[in-house]
Amino acid sequence: MKIIMLGAPGAGKGTQAQMIAEQYGLPHISTGDIFRANIKNGTDLGKEAKTYMDQGKLVPDELTVRILLDRVAQDDCKNGYVLDGFPRTIPQAEVLDAELTKLGDQIDFAINVDVPDENIIKRMSGRRACLKCGATYHIVHVPPKQEGVCDKCGSELVLRDDDKPETVKNRLSVYHEQTQPLIDYYTKKNVLKTVDGTVPKEDVFKAIISILG
Ligand code: AMP
Repeated sequence: MKIIMLGAPGAGKGTQAQMIAEQYGLPHISTGDIFRANIKNGTDLGKEAKTYMDQGKLVPDELTVRILLDRVAQDDCKNGYVLDGFPRTIPQAEVLDAELTKLGDQIDFAINVDVPDENIIKRMSGRRACLKCGATYHIVHVPPKQEGVCDKCGSELVLRDDDKPETVKNRLSVYHEQTQPLIDYYTKKNVLKTVDGTVPKEDVFKAIISILG
């Protein structure tokens, strides 16, 4: 099963992607996580991506597509995957479709986790991330056991540069301009399913499970 998660930054699509991946035994592929891992390791790719990410801009399609296609060509993706944060533009979606068509394949579901902008801004300022292992928390909704400390690896939790309020506003306008058109794109392909992302995450997950079957 090949699943795409759509939704504004902070809509909770990463959390849902992780839960879906566990439930169905699929790899969870987040282009944001791949970029962050490269930043942490000081690679050239990481250095290039960081200049865009820190401003809330999208990393150029060419670079992003290359990274994603490499990842989905790996063995663990044979039975499908959950894409989280990709595609984010129509050209990215078109390249992915073209690659899948070559393999006689297609996307099965595009799940749109719907949350209004005002909720997003409130949520993002409470987000905390572990830069070491990539785990994410929320000071109110998903708090770590000990404040400021990652449950998984014990490292310090921080407000990511790209979760800071001014960056969030940029990311939302980028989302509306460049990513929201994908809702129409996947509607036309008859694979779009929208779920209400404002309810508790367990209920969002139940709604998704009832769609995926
Ligand atoms: P995320 O963790 O998915 O919110 O991604 C964090 C940042 O990584 C985004 O704000 C972009 O700068 C970059 N990024 C992640 N995925 C993509 C993508 N598919 N296309 C372009 N930039 C991306």
